[in-house]
Amino acid sequence: MAVPKRRTSKARQGKRRSHHHLKTRQNTYCTRCGEPVRPHFVCSNCGWLNSQAREAILIEEEEEGS
Ligand SMILES: [Zn+2]
Repeated sequence: MAVPKRRTSKARQGKRRSHHHLKTRQNTYCTRCGEPVRPHFVCSNCGWLNSQAREAILIEEEEEGS
């Protein structure tokens, strides 16, 4: 099994981990209720999908049909 020859210094360890941060990704808002939503995802608050303003899946309608 491969074993490290030298221990990783704190400086080198910090340089490696400098890339570990997460990027903010959510930057859109629901056009129907204004809640922050991820792009191409159905709104968790009202069920609105605004991908090119084509589809709308309403929670109330799903409940009535089932
Ligand atoms: Zn919504």
